[in-house]
Amino acid sequence: MAMSAFEATNLYFRRAADIMQLGQRIEAVFETPSREVKVALTVEMDNGEVRTFEGYRVQHDNSRGPFKGGLRYHPHVDPDEVKSLASLMTWKTAVIDVPFGGAKGGITVDPKQLSTAEVERLTRRFIGKIHDVIGPTLDIPAPDVNTNAQHMAWIYDEYSKLHGHSPAVVTGKPVELYGSLGREAATGRGVAIATRETLKSQGKHVEGARVAIQGFGNVGTFTARFLHAMGAKIVAIADHTGAVRNAAGIDVEKAIAHVKKHGHIAELDVGERFKSDELLFEPVDVLVPAALGNVITMHNVANVRAPIIVEGANGPTDPEANDALERRGVIVVPDIYANAGGVTVSYFEWVQNLQQFTWSEDEVNSKLEAKMVKGFETIHKVARERQVSLRTAAFIVAIGRVGKARVLRGL
Ligand code: NAD
Repeated sequence: MAMSAFEATNLYFRRAADIMQLGQRIEAVFETPSREVKVALTVEMDNGEVRTFEGYRVQHDNSRGPFKGGLRYHPHVDPDEVKSLASLMTWKTAVIDVPFGGAKGGITVDPKQLSTAEVERLTRRFIGKIHDVIGPTLDIPAPDVNTNAQHMAWIYDEYSKLHGHSPAVVTGKPVELYGSLGREAATGRGVAIATRETLKSQGKHVEGARVAIQGFGNVGTFTARFLHAMGAKIVAIADHTGAVRNAAGIDVEKAIAHVKKHGHIAELDVGERFKSDELLFEPVDVLVPAALGNVITMHNVANVRAPIIVEGANGPTDPEANDALERRGVIVVPDIYANAGGVTVSYFEWVQNLQQFTWSEDEVNSKLEAKMVKGFETIHKVARERQVSLRTAAFIVAIGRVGKARVLRGL
């Protein structure tokens, strides 16, 4: 029986905690989220019908600073998944060393079935219900699957109606409305830097490396663009509508323009078409899962051929498959480091909002670059010294920082 998403995250946590000999007292603090909020969101549809949706906000830990994490709109959003993603955020903000804790939220809905006006009413109703547990020094939401800068603008507006002008209550806002330059591209930029640093640590080069990317949304497209700019060859991409491969290298800008226009890569003419699920099995140097969680499992891990996997998505590798990969010597660059570029620039956005001052795009990008490089050096060093995987090393670094803060503040 497959374990739940939250059990999977806690398993990685306990493994690192055991190596660190953390002890029961401190482990007990982190195994349960600090607060779980569930709200019923009753919204009038365009046709006059009234429907009720479930909304969640889970705040895992705030030892190192305000809770921080995205909001996901998806039919599969459930309390267990939100809990797992909230605790991943606690460890992610600690690994990349930004002064936040971890949270996550979501609404169980397929937004593609709703009109824009309905999604706006749903978003505003959600904030109406949770506004007293979020805030610029309390809990700061951000975009995740199926939410973007427009949703963040509505959240800023709705929260500010109740609490006064508060741009720092949410990050990932439009650049025209207190957003940060470089935020939209930040996660993919970070994944590309993580890939380059990993290759370098193996005595390999990003130039000429063959890369396959699963998911061609925010994270997937920017990962492709930056890796291509670094000299890598993007030889396969996939989304929910299908996959394309081209051994000579996919025309990345053409693919991105197609997705901007059509919303997906169906009918994209840049190579040979094949089945989306088979993207994970491409014989490449680097595989980047950048779509959904739990895609590499015991059912398909034997067919995965890439020697390096960089987790652009959250939780793409289930723990059993992760262990099978490790036994084969495959390097898995863990989500809590690899996709931390987004929360890093969210932190920069929050700082700019609090200072009422904006930074240039170069300033944002060079600060992000420094954070990602430092993050890799830190986890790679621990992995070497302790003879553990990069994932366990990342958890050791994160738990060390969060645990220290918690002990200093008092249990
Ligand atoms: P998105 O909604 O922009 O894109 C998701 C992509 O996944 C789309 O291209 C979609 O077609 C594809 N997809 C969906 N089902 C698929 C399937 N079965 N097979 C292949 N592709 C499929 O979402 P995003 O913001 O790019 O997020 C992707 C992942 O990255 C999520 O796990 C998210 O939690 C994680 N993440 C996002 C950010 C961020 O800043 N956006 C930051 C950190 C982590």
